[in-house]
Amino acid sequence: MAATWKPWEIQHEEEVVIVKFGGSLKREKSFTNKQKTEIEDYESVSAIPFDTPVVGYRNNTVNTLRLWSTSVPDYDQFNIKAFDKGDYHHALKNVLCHDDLTMVSILYPNDSHDSGKRLRLKQQYILVSASMQDIIRTYKKSSLPFEMFHQKVAIQINDTHPSLVITELMRILVDEEDIEWDKAWDITVNTCAYTNHTVLSEALEQWDAAMMKAILPRNFEIVEIINHDFCVSVEKKYCKDMDRVRRLSIVVDGKVKMAHLAIVGSHSINGVAELHTQILKEDVLRDFYEIFPEKFNCKTNGITPRRWLLKPNPELAGLITDKIGNGWITNLSELEKLEKFSNDIDFLKQITEIKRRNKERLKNYVYKQNPVRDGSGKTIGKIELSLDSIFDVQAKRLHEYKRQLLNALHILILYNRLKNNPDQKIIARTFFFAAKSAPGYEMAKAIIKFITILARTINNDPDIKDMIKVVFLENYNVSLAEILLTAADVSEQISTAGLEASGTGNMKLALNGALTIGTMDGANVEMSEEIGEENMFIFGLRSDEVKRLRENGYNPGELCNREETVQRIINQLYSDELTKIPEERAILKRIADSLVHVDKYFILKDLLPYKEAQEKVSELYQDRISWAKKVVLNIARSGKFSSDRTIKQYNDEIWNLEKIPVP
Ligand SMILES: *Cc1c(COP(=O)(O)O)cnc(C)c1O
Repeated sequence: MAATWKPWEIQHEEEVVIVKFGGSLKREKSFTNKQKTEIEDYESVSAIPFDTPVVGYRNNTVNTLRLWSTSVPDYDQFNIKAFDKGDYHHALKNVLCHDDLTMVSILYPNDSHDSGKRLRLKQQYILVSASMQDIIRTYKKSSLPFEMFHQKVAIQINDTHPSLVITELMRILVDEEDIEWDKAWDITVNTCAYTNHTVLSEALEQWDAAMMKAILPRNFEIVEIINHDFCVSVEKKYCKDMDRVRRLSIVVDGKVKMAHLAIVGSHSINGVAELHTQILKEDVLRDFYEIFPEKFNCKTNGITPRRWLLKPNPELAGLITDKIGNGWITNLSELEKLEKFSNDIDFLKQITEIKRRNKERLKNYVYKQNPVRDGSGKTIGKIELSLDSIFDVQAKRLHEYKRQLLNALHILILYNRLKNNPDQKIIARTFFFAAKSAPGYEMAKAIIKFITILARTINNDPDIKDMIKVVFLENYNVSLAEILLTAADVSEQISTAGLEASGTGNMKLALNGALTIGTMDGANVEMSEEIGEENMFIFGLRSDEVKRLRENGYNPGELCNREETVQRIINQLYSDELTKIPEERAILKRIADSLVHVDKYFILKDLLPYKEAQEKVSELYQDRISWAKKVVLNIARSGKFSSDRTIKQYNDEIWNLEKIPVP
């Protein structure tokens, strides 16, 4: 498969590392499993590093991002003489053969869903083992003792995917560096820290124990030892509370729980927003919090102001710099100096005009790059948008918990209202959706289909007179996000409370002057503390209310019968009003069934409060000065959400790495 040519990338074949799979374990008869062990008859894969320089913003600093490419050594092709002479390029020239491990053709696009596939475990281990071997090799050049390893090296386990670094570091220290188990364990725990990114149980990785044992026999054995010692300590502490031991165990019912491994093997466990961290402590990881309260902490996510304001919104960035100087670019909290201009009518007009030009850029993009297509993908028309309409944006991965469906059902309510009363004056809106879904996520694909059915129906209905438009943007990525998020008037952040760990799209949109309609979830809570609830449109169930409803039972069917507006749209999904195509009708029926019978994400429960909040949005937009004033306050009070602040907290509170002055 052809890869993109990356001119900045440098291959370092001389730093190749060998990663071993399978095989059997061999150790001295007198040794225990906590002592030096070798693997025999393994298969090996070589990993070659590719370095990309990462240039800092005007700080005389260039760091290195090291990525790995793999190949399975074909020893017939492998030039051992060249290898021995240190001519790695020659040695490996013919070795880059049947490469099935890092190839783009085998990506795992499941976001927030664990697929537990064998090849994915192998991929994870290659990246973990290659990186760990590389770190150790680099450390050994310093000639410092391993007692000091954690003072020089920090490993942040970003979600559970790289959590095998814990067993891999143990394996290298015990089996290759001859370090005693207990000492190796102290080094490992002091070096590693874990960031949790989700509370969704289907996203927490669990590997089949038998599979892990076959692919990674020594790492699996190390998991079992770690688990044994941990379970014994829990049993002691809680006088044989075996229920608790079971709940906490890393290996249980033939599965290895990777989050449990990451927690036991790390000195720090953090959530990515205050509410998320509180839910980890009180709910999802409550048993672990009881044992290790001192390990838990919060690092609220942030976004880089260079990528999310300076580059994509040059006019707004320029206006801000004109008013308060350019210090905000590297110290985002300086944006608070903008507050004093929130009553300056000229400034409010300039802000509004910049937004309009960004909306024009998006309108042109949609016209040229996002045509109307038929079922086969053929272009059958172009989409024309009005710059006077409210640009309402929901851009994020497609997930039921993010509730794109709530937004879509509200659009259907608006459509019905206009159909019943075509002469009614409403504030024109353009609803943008941008989202990708994993190919195997059926409900996500059904929701995309529903949105495109709505778009087809509404955009082509002459009764609507262009008062509502629906646009589903194809191929959502960061480049498109730059055009889309800078053009938004309204930011949709409407997840089921308690389920969005943080969100960062919410921050990007507020920083670029969109007003948020959202639930009290993830970082929205902290945004409302900074920005002021009166400058946002907060609605819906709170996370404690969601939890209570879940525990006490909730009957969406009953709500449906009680509320006429809700009943009307559900009936529409079951009828042939929106589409007569049988396949499409089946999809809409599936969506309706899931809402009426379960409504796991409390969409119907929040629908009418959402509708009321949307009415407030439309009302405020008619008063353009008041709207612009809130826009300025949103921008001015977004300083906390810089990733510079986040990273500084990781260093000050977790890594404790020395700062190096830059000339
Ligand atoms: C920021 C961003 C996300 C995350 O968005 P959320 O609203 O926080 O889920 C996803 N995809 C792209 C392309 C982004 O830029």
